This record gives sequence, structure tokens and C-alpha cells, in this order.
Amino acid sequence: MSVLAEIDLDALRHNAMLVRQIASGSRIMAVVKSMAYGHGAVPVARALESVVDAFAVARVSEGVELRAANVRLPIVVLEGPGSAEELALCADFALQATLHHPSQLALLRENSAVPAMDYWLKFDTGMHRLGFPAAYAAERVAQVLGMSQVASLACMTHLACADDPGDAMTRRQWQRFADGLADTPVQKSVANSAGILAWPETHADWVRPGLMLYGASPLISRGARELGLQPVMTLSAPLLAINDVPAGESVGYGATWRAPEAMRLGVVGVGYGDGYPRQIGEEGKVLLQGKLLPVVGRVSMDMLTVDLRGVHASVGDRVTLWGQGLPVDEVAGWAGTIPYTLLCGVTARVERRYRITDGQSR
Ligand SMILES: *Cc1c(COP(=O)(O)O)cnc(C)c1O
Repeated sequence: MSVLAEIDLDALRHNAMLVRQIASGSRIMAVVKSMAYGHGAVPVARALESVVDAFAVARVSEGVELRAANVRLPIVVLEGPGSAEELALCADFALQATLHHPSQLALLRENSAVPAMDYWLKFDTGMHRLGFPAAYAAERVAQVLGMSQVASLACMTHLACADDPGDAMTRRQWQRFADGLADTPVQKSVANSAGILAWPETHADWVRPGLMLYGASPLISRGARELGLQPVMTLSAPLLAINDVPAGESVGYGATWRAPEAMRLGVVGVGYGDGYPRQIGEEGKVLLQGKLLPVVGRVSMDMLTVDLRGVHASVGDRVTLWGQGLPVDEVAGWAGTIPYTLLCGVTARVERRYRITDGQSR
């Protein structure tokens, strides 16, 4: 009996097909960085291989891991190479590196023996994280295309505020990108999940969905269900104990919560050591037998406590922390965070169990 992250690969494919419908004129670069947002990069990539056109990872090592598992589609490394070793790995494993900084162009010049490869150029249109200034995009493209190691070049930028459909920043960013590359015949990519859902004008040649593939909503105003997304990960844990406590007794570290009346508590075998957020607020709830039960007292490393009033539970019953029946967006809201951190934060000791079309697990 342990904490389980059941990964529904059919739901994953469903969400990818939804991206296809919404951005029907674009190719899909599925973002599988950070262990595919905690779901497991290799199984996720295998399940998506027949549905998408490419994968994106943050780091060279993540791309190498996919190639080692025989993933064949193009793989884009969003941060690009940071050393001659990483550049060589990109060549050896056919990874499409993103170039976002002059130091990477210098790296290419210093390693002129590297075979010609496909590259992405990243432009900064206002996020001010990675990228060359968009104002001189056309000149930059011409310069990089002139390098003997560059076989082909596509261009991307990243949106800072696409999660808010009312934020004018997105339109400004799109305009800077489009203006900078006007008359430059290169493939373009702008939209993350929020861009895909809220900003159709940013779809361009390639979309880069991450979070929405995993069935969570990137938008501040609309939930996953409303968007037609299906949860991919369902995190569950067993009830380890059921205890009756008298009125006024406290539970957990710091004795921060007291029973308002004589009542029944359940101890669930999951905690922050599994990635459950310790900062879950007073609103925080878990799902048992279709009912939402309040989390009471502090979350500890391996356990948390729930209010069992109103349900007839037995030791061993499985409690859902998020996923099927309880959107991770909602749990993130209770914890004062975003679904990204909850999904990426599921720790290594949690068993991932993959479900595929024929209903079997593997
Ligand atoms: C992570 C990432 C994405 C995916 O973002 P989501 O919000 O998860 O869809 C897309 N593009 C870049 C450059 C990224 O770093």
C-alpha cells in the first residue's frame, strides 16, 4: 500500500488531439521537460509519438534520455547547449538546439568541426528571460544562417502573460516577434498552452503545449473541465488509520488544529515527502468515495489527516489527492500555488503506473 500516481495515457492522447483541433494549422512540439511535468518523460513521449510532430525539453540531458529510449521524433532543447560537451551531445543524439545568447554563437564558432545541424533561434519579445532582442531578428537570422554549422533555422519567442486573456502584453509580444521577422522566411513558434487556448493569433507554424497535455488549465479564468481537458495523473494514497478523537484535542505537529467536537479522523499515507503541498490551506480537501474531505492539521512528510465526518471509511481505502474527480488546478489554488509545481513536485518514491488503451497497467 503506497502512494500511486496513475498515469492515463489515453487522456494524454485526448489532450494532444484537442491541441490538434484548436491549433489545426500548426505543428505540435509537445513539451516533456522536467520528467514530462512529473509524469515520466519516456512513457509520455512514447504515447505521444504518433500524435505530435516533435518534443521539447529544457536540458540536453533530457533530450539524451529520450534518444536513449529510442524516441525518434525531432527533439528541441529549449535552453540549448552551455558547453562544448553539450554541443557534441546535441550532434551525437540529433537534438535541435535553441540558441538564445551570444555565448552560444561563440561556442559554435569555437567548435567548427561539429556537423551541420538544425537550430532554433530564440528571441526576447518582453519576457526578458532568454533570447536575442527581437528588434534585430532579421539580421540575427541572416548572421546565424551564414554559419557553416547551421543547416536550418526556425525561430521562437515565449509569452509572459498569456494566461490572462485580458493582458495586452501578449499582443505586444506577438507584434514585436512578427515585426522583427517580417519578410524572413523561417518557421515560427510562439504559443505555450495558454497561447494555444486564449490567443489563436499566436499559433504560427509550431505550438508548444506543456501543461494542457497533462490535463490542467494554464488559464486564470477557466478550469480544465470547462476546456475539455482530461486529467492525466491521479495521485492517490491509502487510509493508514481511523481514529476517534474527543472534542478539543489537537492533531499533528504544532497542534495547530483542534477537533470542534468528538469526531473521527483519517490518517492518509501521503505527505510532502511525496510532493503533497505542506502549504495546503484551510480550504484544502481530498476525495474519498466521491466526497470532498477537509485536510486538518499540518501536512507532515509521510502523512496527513482528514476529517472523516460524513463518510463510512475503512483502513486501506484509497484517497485521491488530485486527478480524476479533483482537478489539480483546484488543489493548487488551495495551496496558493500553480498546477505546474504540484505535478513537477511528485517525488521519486511515488510509483508511476501507466494505463493504456486496453485497460491494462504496465
Ligand atoms: C515550458 C515551456 C513551454 C510549455 O509551457 P506550458 O505553459 O506548460 O504550456 C513552452 N515553451 C517554452 C519555451 C517553455 O519553456
